[in-house]
Amino acid sequence: MQMKPESLMMSHGYKPELSQGAVKCPIFLTSTFVFHSAEEGKDFFELAYGHRQTRPNEELGLIYSRINNPNLEILEDRLTLWDEADGSAVFESGMSAISTVLLEFLKPGSLLIYSAPIYGGTHHFIHHVLTKYGISSIEFGIHDTKEQIQEKIIASGKSKDLALIYLETPANPTNDLFSIKEAVTLASYFSKENNEKVFVAVDNTYLGPIWQKPLSLGADITVYSATKYLGGHSDLIAGAVMGTQEVIRRVKTLRTFLGNMISPHTAWMLLRSLETLQIRMERQQSNAITVGNFLWKHPKVEKVYFLGIDESLSSRTQEIYKEQCLGPGAMISFDIKGTEATAFTFLNALKLFKLAVSLGSTESLAEHPATMTHVDIPTSDKIHMNITEKLIRLSIGVEDPQDLIKDLTQAFEKI
Ligand SMILES: *Cc1c(COP(=O)(O)O)cnc(C)c1O
Repeated sequence: MQMKPESLMMSHGYKPELSQGAVKCPIFLTSTFVFHSAEEGKDFFELAYGHRQTRPNEELGLIYSRINNPNLEILEDRLTLWDEADGSAVFESGMSAISTVLLEFLKPGSLLIYSAPIYGGTHHFIHHVLTKYGISSIEFGIHDTKEQIQEKIIASGKSKDLALIYLETPANPTNDLFSIKEAVTLASYFSKENNEKVFVAVDNTYLGPIWQKPLSLGADITVYSATKYLGGHSDLIAGAVMGTQEVIRRVKTLRTFLGNMISPHTAWMLLRSLETLQIRMERQQSNAITVGNFLWKHPKVEKVYFLGIDESLSSRTQEIYKEQCLGPGAMISFDIKGTEATAFTFLNALKLFKLAVSLGSTESLAEHPATMTHVDIPTSDKIHMNITEKLIRLSIGVEDPQDLIKDLTQAFEKI
């Protein structure tokens, strides 16, 4: 019987009979696991280190919590359902998921191309860590067409070394969209040219697995900061990678040796969060549509960046939206009429919205990208990306939508 992920989040991958009948999966705070026999220990290690293939009906047994742990494995099994992935690997942060993918799919001499603006931590890793290992990168923006991106790659003289195309879509904080299908076409073009597979990875944190499924559009790898919607309560830091068995085998092997796997406690908290993922995200999105429309009509608002208002989107963005998004999400940015001081007065006046970075949680948050999350981007690039002093970013939570509007209204009155 085929069931939806939200129906399976309370049970999938967990066997109560292995835990005294407990209806909920306990937290397995143990570093190591007792083997039934020396032969079993030998079998498990052969599999874990890839020294032989699995036999029919054989599963990797529990060895040591850096390699596997019931909380980590059950969480991975449940996460695969949302993305319709073959496998998943969970990490102690979004950044550890991202850096492990970049290290695994690139090598000295490789070329990486990525969409901009990109998450600040990812940008830092590309420019200050990967460069130490002789890995170079090219950036492209929403104004670049597929042909222009292709020309940039060829002009670099390193097209033979192209190994990974990395997208973050929608882009934070302005909700610009990049086409996943075009990235896949580009990757297959260069895979043929180079006789070596070019991988496509998508950071899907901003829409989460409910509203965008990059793997179903042909991407090879999806990465998440599970700190955001997947965790959803601003009480943990975690990350995840989704992909084919082969992609996940490679990612997990490197994870074993970097030792950046999720802890049993954080995995358990995420199991709890996933039970309400669908209803949280639906409520957050419907709240965002209400708030977005309120801002769109507000006289003190100059411009709204939200996928839920068709008239506000360029025809290109509308086209990509139809192709790859299942909903507008719950992230809204807008330009307030005025200056940085106006924006700060507004932010300081908010009561229900908390003034904090991060996103995707049950409580609504507000921040000023130009001086906070995106402060590291050079000013000229910021302006090109619409990240100006007037821009305010909202992450919409699960509160009563009219209360959110009341809070915004009273803050607008202060300016
Ligand atoms: C927060 C975030 C990250 C980093 O995740 P951490 O869990 O903070 O390490 C990466 N990408 C995006 C889009 C994010 O919002």
